[in-house]
Amino acid sequence: MTQSIERVTATTPTFSALKCRECGTTYDLGAKHVCEDVCFGPLEVAYDYDAIRQRVTRSSIQAGPLSIWRYKDFLPVVGDNPIDVGTGMTPLVRANRLARRLGLKELYIKNDAVNMPTLSFKDRVVSVALTRARELGFTTVSCASTGNLANSTAAIAAHAGLDCCVFIPSDLEAGKVLGTLIYNPTVMAVNGNYDQVNRLCSEVANTHDGWGFVNINLRPYYSEGSKTLAYEVAEQLGWRLPDHIVAPLASGSLFTKIYKGFQEFVTVGLVDEKPVRFSGAQAEGCSPIAQAFKEGRDFVTPVKPSTIAKSIAIGNPADGIYALDIARKTNGNIESVTDAEIIAGMKLLAETEGIFTETAGGTTIAVLQKLVAAGKIDPEESTVVYITGNGLKTQEAVQGYVGEPFTIEPKLDSFERALERSRTLDRLEWQQVLV
Ligand SMILES: *Cc1c(COP(=O)(O)O)cnc(C)c1O
Repeated sequence: MTQSIERVTATTPTFSALKCRECGTTYDLGAKHVCEDVCFGPLEVAYDYDAIRQRVTRSSIQAGPLSIWRYKDFLPVVGDNPIDVGTGMTPLVRANRLARRLGLKELYIKNDAVNMPTLSFKDRVVSVALTRARELGFTTVSCASTGNLANSTAAIAAHAGLDCCVFIPSDLEAGKVLGTLIYNPTVMAVNGNYDQVNRLCSEVANTHDGWGFVNINLRPYYSEGSKTLAYEVAEQLGWRLPDHIVAPLASGSLFTKIYKGFQEFVTVGLVDEKPVRFSGAQAEGCSPIAQAFKEGRDFVTPVKPSTIAKSIAIGNPADGIYALDIARKTNGNIESVTDAEIIAGMKLLAETEGIFTETAGGTTIAVLQKLVAAGKIDPEESTVVYITGNGLKTQEAVQGYVGEPFTIEPKLDSFERALERSRTLDRLEWQQVLV
């Protein structure tokens, strides 16, 4: 296919090559993701940080749009017309009630449960990937998804007028499926788990070379979008880095890119250097990276996923070894929690902070709790927890665990009786807590 670059701006790009993470071989800026000439390592976008340092200041960023595109010089797009659907600049919430509950001093929630347009952090990676896809001349975009990526790819493709065909495992939550179908893409529900979906998509990518798979042949561009989760936190903390971050791990990409984002801000002088500890969260039913961490291995053994945390159920994580390396060298941890703990984590965040997250967020909160209890997060550390998705998409997970409304007659005495019952129930709950 032709890979002509549209809408080139007057400003020269701050990146000029793809570079192999393992052997450093460079490639042109096309749609490829593996080092096919040498070692089959993953390709990454390489930037000219001197050029970025000269161009970017805190105030130039603050004068930019209220979206991820305020960090455009750190992102792999060349044109001056990125697809801006308001993605990014989600709230960084000071979580005082949750902090008190856990015994922490300075805790923040980075709340991508309200990211735009599809209520998960995936809108960041897709905004970047589809902007780049358009620049490379693709007219059909696709992805292998655990749910949120399909929502995001379908929505942003609709906005950009791109044809879209997404692949999901056939057992996803109803909200994730409907939240894709509404945008009217072609949806392939594959009878298999994510890792099988991903394998199929690699074959399709090889045989349909006009298709841009956001997380396969466009992966080097896609993954860069996650760096904005680091930039925003640094800016929202008043241009400083936190002491500790906790984030969920599926392929491990998000985790490694938050690390890269912090490093880049230090490199170009936007924040002072400081050690940040990186801790990762997995569901016990799909915890290949946590298992490798626990056993001191530097390789990840694939597993077959079985957990309610479907959005992070990747049994063969592409960036698992890099996530392991980051957790170890920053003195962080990678922990896993059971499905019951995930549900409890979702409820805890909702009850203390008013944030309804999906199962991936429940996993992250439950791991936060576990790390604090084990003394692996210091109460004095400023800690940022990344909440990456919205609970309305995984209602099945908490159905039956959230009680029921009091159904009453439209009469005052009916209300009074129900109120009395609710107070009795509250007391009973307290007694259960006390025993
Ligand atoms: C995809 C996803 C993640 C993690 O993604 P990585 O593959 O590790 O980058 C985390 N949370 C949610 C809600 C997701 O959809």
